[in-house]
Amino acid sequence: MTDALDRRRFLKVLGVTGAGAAAASCGIGPEPTERLIPYLVQPEDQVPGVATYYATTCRECAAGCGVRVRVREGRAVKLEGNPDSPINRGRLCARGQAALQGLYNPDRVPHPMVRNANGTFEEIDWDGAIQRLEGRVREAAGKGIVFLTGAERSSFGDLIDEWMKQVGGRRLSYEPFGFEALRAGNRMTFGTAAVPTYDFANAKYVLSFGADFLDTWLSPVEFQNGFAQSHAFDGSRPAGMAKYVYVGPRLSLTGMNADEWVAAKPGTEGLLALAMAQVIMSQHLARVPADASRLVGTLSAYSP
Ligand code: SF4
Repeated sequence: MTDALDRRRFLKVLGVTGAGAAAASCGIGPEPTERLIPYLVQPEDQVPGVATYYATTCRECAAGCGVRVRVREGRAVKLEGNPDSPINRGRLCARGQAALQGLYNPDRVPHPMVRNANGTFEEIDWDGAIQRLEGRVREAAGKGIVFLTGAERSSFGDLIDEWMKQVGGRRLSYEPFGFEALRAGNRMTFGTAAVPTYDFANAKYVLSFGADFLDTWLSPVEFQNGFAQSHAFDGSRPAGMAKYVYVGPRLSLTGMNADEWVAAKPGTEGLLALAMAQVIMSQHLARVPADASRLVGTLSAYSP
């Protein structure tokens, strides 16, 4: 997809460039003169003045929203949600929108670095870095090489796995937002250690115990889309407008959208859930599974 340079923008660019050149030639501009040099060998997908769009995936959290990146002259300049993505349907959260800040952050390490004799890092060129890495990998082959990555589940992950297999190493994934407690809970409850998806769009009653699902929890853009459907006045919706109660210590975005906010003390959300379960079971307020009697003893400790 391309975005043609229209006549007005072209003249604007010419005007700004001309003004900049005039100011620089008078010696009043603090910035040094820079030269615009056309490509010697132009990449076939880059036309100066014409934007190019690429579809990719946001990597700022594990939700993996679909993104369209607007690129001008080889530089990514804007991120927008991909309307074709079933997760975010064209929207991005603030963090996804700000992901470009990470790309151009001045503190980012853009070159290979090596620790010198003084213990500080210094820059080396790519050829030198690749040579050093090759030597180290050869020395350590078969002795337990570990490749540490983020959550890589795509072809890049497969590539690293294949490489590690060749050199007798293994890959270790690190997820800053791990959901191990959620996985463990689902394994105990449903026998599957999976991270669930939640169908907010069809919910009739949403009760959240500390899950900030509109801010950061699991897949916030997907949940915002679903919640906006169930928590809106919509006469055509058979279930009517969903009721939403939030239990949590902070009036976050998730809390602010609740019909009722229960301001629990930090860390007590789970206790409240257990106390509610105890009351429901002991007073037979709902139909419970046949084997729920095994919980009676455990829950008795949480009687309110
Ligand atoms: S929820 Fe936000 S940070 Fe996470 S993948 Fe989607 S846009 Fe990126």
